[in-house]
Amino acid sequence: MKKARPFNFSAGPAALPEEVLQQAAAEMLDWQGSGMSVMEMSHRGREFISIYEAAEADLRELLAVPREFRILFMQGGGLAENAIVPLNLSGLKPGGKVDVVVSGSWSKKSAAEARRYADVSIAADGAASQYRSLPGNWQLRRDAAYVHICSNETIDGVEFHELPDLKALGSDAPLVVDCSSQQLSRTIDWSRVGLAFGGAQKNIGPAGLTLVFVREELLGHALPICPSAFDYKTVAEAQSMYNTPPTYGIYIAGLVFQWLKRFSYAGKTGVAAIEQRNIDKAKLLYAALDGSALYENRVAADCRSRMNIPFYLREERLNEAFLAGAKERSLLQLKGHKSVGGMRASIYNAMPLEGVQALVDYLKDFEASHG
Ligand SMILES: *Cc1c(COP(=O)(O)O)cnc(C)c1O
Repeated sequence: MKKARPFNFSAGPAALPEEVLQQAAAEMLDWQGSGMSVMEMSHRGREFISIYEAAEADLRELLAVPREFRILFMQGGGLAENAIVPLNLSGLKPGGKVDVVVSGSWSKKSAAEARRYADVSIAADGAASQYRSLPGNWQLRRDAAYVHICSNETIDGVEFHELPDLKALGSDAPLVVDCSSQQLSRTIDWSRVGLAFGGAQKNIGPAGLTLVFVREELLGHALPICPSAFDYKTVAEAQSMYNTPPTYGIYIAGLVFQWLKRFSYAGKTGVAAIEQRNIDKAKLLYAALDGSALYENRVAADCRSRMNIPFYLREERLNEAFLAGAKERSLLQLKGHKSVGGMRASIYNAMPLEGVQALVDYLKDFEASHG
């Protein structure tokens, strides 16, 4: 029998469904009788266009993306979008004002980058809680061009379980969401979104592909200094083919979308099914951490991430032994981000319930032998 693959808890680039990797391997030298690898195809050829169109249609169906949104397949990752967004949207209103809610490391970076192009104000900052809860009491400017949030802070493990309703907060600015580590893990309330972006390498496919969901009405306001290849209007008008898109990344993402369409769990299918499994996985892991005397997760209960679960061993001297023991059990990449230390288990869509159960079993066994 073939040896099972290890469980990979990497925060990104992260695990992909094994079925997807196997299909990609089988099609590597010859995609569906074309005689070519997908990597070798013209992005303007019939074969690749069919891959691209299916991927876009499947994604639109999975997330129920309304018609008024364009889906762009770009390059540059989440960090490049931190510049591309203000280059495209800060000119929506005179004054180029951008309000940013800082809920952790990633939104802090977004604010710093946007400052290079726009008049940035921090609408709220979770620093006082050490980013263990979402900041309240937002100070939104009436004439802001847009408001930026990060819907899941990958390093701090803090997640918005509901997107803010800016209108109810007295703002008519569009909401921009960095959903890099959250996209496709749950359904989205598009009525609250102006633009959402995310790198693919957390939940969707290989690094190098960035997805942007943008309301049509927000296109066409780019600053003159915006590079043409990053002008959303130019990209949208060219069906994401103004320049060569990350073709292999789009192909793998397309296979992930097909996998998700087939996916069923607890009597549900597609994104509803994966969301339910993500809820169950997170519950299982948080319960094990909360029930232990050795481990702790420090995030407030109402905004704990379903995707990235940072935790600490109360005795730091055990960190190395913990990681070595995990590796022996084929539980990989549990080391926390260097800026915060400790451990982090990222349990994206591709992580099965059995993987989280194996981690929970290990947590208990390690505590029993070292507690
Ligand atoms: C990973 C991540 C990024 C950075 O993405 P890159 O592709 O490395 O640029 C930005 N925001 C969030 C929330 C992330 O998780």
